[in-house]
Amino acid sequence: MDFIEMRSDTLTLPTDEMRNEMRSAEVGDDVYGEDPTVRRLEELAAAKVGKEAAMFVPSGTMGNLLAVMTHCRHGDEILLESECHIYYYEVGGLSAVAGVVPRLVRAAHGVLDPGDVRAAIREENIHYAPAACLAIENTHNRGGGTVTPITTMAALRQVADAYGLGVHLDGARIFNAALALGVDASEITRHVDSVMFCLSKGLSAPVGSILAGSAAFIKVARKHRKMLGGGMRQAGVLAAAGVVALEKMVGRLADDHANARSLGLGLAQIPGIAIDLSTVQTNIVMFDVSALKVSASQFASELALEGVRVTTRPPFGIRAVLNRHVDPDGVRRALAAVATVCSRYRR
Ligand SMILES: *Cc1c(COP(=O)(O)O)cnc(C)c1O
Repeated sequence: MDFIEMRSDTLTLPTDEMRNEMRSAEVGDDVYGEDPTVRRLEELAAAKVGKEAAMFVPSGTMGNLLAVMTHCRHGDEILLESECHIYYYEVGGLSAVAGVVPRLVRAAHGVLDPGDVRAAIREENIHYAPAACLAIENTHNRGGGTVTPITTMAALRQVADAYGLGVHLDGARIFNAALALGVDASEITRHVDSVMFCLSKGLSAPVGSILAGSAAFIKVARKHRKMLGGGMRQAGVLAAAGVVALEKMVGRLADDHANARSLGLGLAQIPGIAIDLSTVQTNIVMFDVSALKVSASQFASELALEGVRVTTRPPFGIRAVLNRHVDPDGVRRALAAVATVCSRYRR
């Protein structure tokens, strides 16, 4: 890449090893349960998050939707953080397809407060949709890659248990969370019934996510996947890359965190940029250009002309996501480009 790509970690390309494994993957019809590479990926994935069973799905969005469909019945209520991916970025599928009513709980940087969740759960009343599920997002995307600590996960679980709610974790970046917390991913997932995580983000697989949970849960979710048209045939070609992602790419996320840290520290030195370094916990860096009196979209366009691609959080927010294709030199070049654009707006 001749530009510095920080729009998302979904833009990571498959590695040569993934391409080779995809080429030689042993395959079968996975709808018949006969693809050995898919099975291998699913077993490996279940073990990584300490669950009985796992299922390969085409996207994180489908994994989350299947989880909602499996935890809830039509007309049930689900509790979610107000800016979580399931609510904000998944096309309203939770209502349009799963038929559930979202009940939103606001949280600073996306980290739910167990007391706020408890306060949002309503006692049974003939007027109310029955609450069936609590969804947690760790790390939290719109929060800026922020991490929910283990103690909070445990406390959220306790609240859910007190009201008989299932708990789903949108763990698209679960391994980033585990790395930041210094724990095994299964230490996070032991507090939830189901977890979705992405192979296609920092782990660099071309396609796919995992939904994991109990064997009974995955059995029902598998039926729902088929209903949505997500039953795949010789999917081992894709799963082969997922195996490499889980076996070889988890450790490298530390580089993204280190690069995010140095990008954040560098941005904090540039006059006109506002950044809350306490939110730079994993591979996402959010900053604000309002002091320069320039819109985020104008700033991002000018940055792109300098060879640096980011996304905007209008009106003044910018998001940069560190990934395998940005090294420390890329961070230095990105900082120089930001400084150049900033200098045009400072007097
Ligand atoms: C990326 C992401 C997803 C799923 O994304 P897909 O593009 O559908 O794979 C879900 N939740 C979070 C928090 C994400 O960042």
